[in-house]
Amino acid sequence: MGKHIVLEGTDGSGKSTQFRLLTQRLTEAGLDFQRLVFPQYKEESSALIRMYLNGDFGSHPEDVNAYAASAFYAVDRYASYQRVWKDYYRQGGLVLSDRYTTSNAVHQGSKVPPEERPAFFRWLTEFEFDRLGLPAPDLVLYLDVPTELTEAMLRQRETDTNTHADIHEKDLPYLRLCRETGRQAAEAYGWKVISCAEKGRMRPIPEIHEEIYRLVTQCLGES
Ligand code: ADP
Repeated sequence: MGKHIVLEGTDGSGKSTQFRLLTQRLTEAGLDFQRLVFPQYKEESSALIRMYLNGDFGSHPEDVNAYAASAFYAVDRYASYQRVWKDYYRQGGLVLSDRYTTSNAVHQGSKVPPEERPAFFRWLTEFEFDRLGLPAPDLVLYLDVPTELTEAMLRQRETDTNTHADIHEKDLPYLRLCRETGRQAAEAYGWKVISCAEKGRMRPIPEIHEEIYRLVTQCLGES
């Protein structure tokens, strides 16, 4: 089996930015790897995710329960694994993912009460890894950002890219809850937490990148 490294974080935490920098740096270093971004919005396998995020099942995230919504996202990953990266990974390839099962833990785990989350996390592991057969990651880097700062970054991204926030991104109390759940998930699953803010401000992008790169090269050095 190969190696699988995942970048996770709440919406607007800087995942895409850091994922781009990481993949650029590894390409420059001459490494061979496969790059995955979830959800795969352009693929048919994400149809139910798009309906959910567009509000077709209700305009609030809680209108679709954690287990149903998790299934939508898991199926999209299953399709990608079967069609795109299974053989490469099984032959020892390196796979880097922007989001993964970890996103269900953060975003859907937020819909269950805190005391039920450990059971939800166990269900998720069993469903995606044991039953669907998706590979568990070797390393998860979790970008932790205070919600006040992510909100500003999300609005910035809307302006920069001329896009609109989806039902998750629009809902501030939900984003706040996701941060709490993300920290709980990081503890439960043993993710590496990257604290992206310092004294109420975001740390510089290159500094966060260096921390991520160090952890990734460390993981790649382990057999
Ligand atoms: P995500 O993929 O987690 O939703 P993005 O990488 O798209 O987040 O970042 C959201 C916005 O915040 C973008 O406009 C990005 O340029 C900006 N951003 C990312 N990281 C930082 C940082 N460390 N400091 C300031 N702004 C940042």
